[in-house]
Amino acid sequence: MNSDNRSKVLVIEDDPGICIFLKTTLVSEGYEVIIAKDGKSALGLISSHCPDCLLLDLGLPDMDGNAIIESVRQWTHMPIIVISARSMEQDKATALDMGADDYITKPFGTIELLARIRAALRHTRTTAEAGEIALTGSYHVGDLEIDYRKRRVYRGGEDVRLTPNEYRIVALLGRHAGRVLTYKTMLRELWGPAASSDNKILRVHMAGIRRKIEPDPNEPRYIFTEVGVGYRMAEDEK
Ligand code: CA
Repeated sequence: MNSDNRSKVLVIEDDPGICIFLKTTLVSEGYEVIIAKDGKSALGLISSHCPDCLLLDLGLPDMDGNAIIESVRQWTHMPIIVISARSMEQDKATALDMGADDYITKPFGTIELLARIRAALRHTRTTAEAGEIALTGSYHVGDLEIDYRKRRVYRGGEDVRLTPNEYRIVALLGRHAGRVLTYKTMLRELWGPAASSDNKILRVHMAGIRRKIEPDPNEPRYIFTEVGVGYRMAEDEK
């Protein structure tokens, strides 16, 4: 990989040990890494260096990481992955609803971290290339396939015959494969801004979807529940 097309990651984190771990890991994977140890310098580096992706700790010495999400989202869609010791479901949902793309809870492993970064960067690219490609393309993982043009989902080549709402849920998760979508985001995307905030409708549909697409609905392989937060579809294997 030459230095011109390396993706640039801004790490916003005040813990020196985690900074070193992240820098070493990301540099060895070919990323260019910039470090900000507080919120104020982060905001400066975001405008001066235009990173491709932010890794953001929520507990910063001078401000709450959510304030950075709020500020960045006023002018750019650059991917933001929250790295946080906070494992509270509400904290994760708040960060995602404010516009973070994903979150990862400390302590986390290298493989998981790198997969999340790849998914976040890929998502920006597909968004930039417009939704049309996703709407006419397909998604594959294991023996599951979504054909967006035909609006059909196949398992092992067999049409699983989803209802229209089940299809819309699966297609939405498939377009964002590898990323967690909060209940709130899904309800808004599927049923508009006036949608009920009650996620029971999603749970009911998900039970039906899992019976149709998962070999074992109790041990999902394709669509994962992020407890109290939302759902995540397995990354596309293409
Ligand atoms: Ca911290």
